[in-house]
Amino acid sequence: MTQPRSIFAFRVKLYKVQKVLSYVAVFCIIVKAMKYDVVIVGGGASGLSCALTLLSSQGRNWEWAENRKYILFDTDHSDLNKAFLKNVPGIEPMAGRELLQKVRKQIQDWGGMEILQEEVTRVEKKGEHYEVETASGKVFLSDYVVLASGFHGFSIKGINVEVVENTKSPKPGRVMLKHKDYEVDKNLFVVGTLAGLSSHFTSCAGSGVEVAIEILSRFAGKRIVIHDVPEKS
Ligand SMILES: Cc1cc2nc3c(=O)[nH]c(=O)nc-3n(C[C@H](O)[C@H](O)[C@H](O)COP(=O)(O)OP(=O)(O)OC[C@H]3O[C@@H](n4cnc5c(N)ncnc54)[C@H](O)[C@@H]3O)c2cc1C
Repeated sequence: MTQPRSIFAFRVKLYKVQKVLSYVAVFCIIVKAMKYDVVIVGGGASGLSCALTLLSSQGRNWEWAENRKYILFDTDHSDLNKAFLKNVPGIEPMAGRELLQKVRKQIQDWGGMEILQEEVTRVEKKGEHYEVETASGKVFLSDYVVLASGFHGFSIKGINVEVVENTKSPKPGRVMLKHKDYEVDKNLFVVGTLAGLSSHFTSCAGSGVEVAIEILSRFAGKRIVIHDVPEKS
């Protein structure tokens, strides 16, 4: 028995609509998978300290802190690779490279931070979010971005930032971004030497912590601190 033409045409249309919907669903899944709460650009003293503090908010029965998505991009050219540290409080003298590895291990032990060895080339505001693109063309969405890429230069495209001379550095040619309380634009932060701090591990790490606590406080909707106490014996 032959189907009336109109039923056949309807079925073809239905098939096409289903196909489009399945493409849309796959697209939505991909976008959701690539959407982060915080993207950190740079894995040196300031970026890693920011990461560690963000992660340390988890596992405390703070509902707002759980299931957050964090990612850090790094090209592994931290100044710490060249340093031998004798003036970091509480730390035995050690190579900066060794300290980097220790902090990376602390981050790994907390869990919950994706780390990609990739250069970020573009950060652009798209509505309420930031679009972050890497040199290999991968694109990520994030609510917050923390720029921790050091003071040797700033070539990330897409954002309206004021790059000025870093007057805290005794060496010429070092740069910093203009900011107010580390915020360059809404939910876009700068830390470390790129924020104009003097080039010392503790100052730069401290700025990473400040910004992490600011972001966590915005998640929580109130001011927070993260303090631990010794376990009772
Ligand atoms: C020779 C030397 C000796 C030093 N000795 C001491 C000392 O004794 N005591 C002390 O306290 N401090 C010392 N320092 C200073 C200390 O190393 C720096 O202050 C500190 O590393 C700065 O931290 P930062 O996070 O601003 O930048 P960095 O630690 O330099 O980290 C920046 C990171 O961002 C990454 N990056 C850059 N651009 C991108 C991008 N587009 N995408 C992704 N990643 C990117 C880089 O690869 C790098 O890993 C020394 C530094 C040097 C060079």
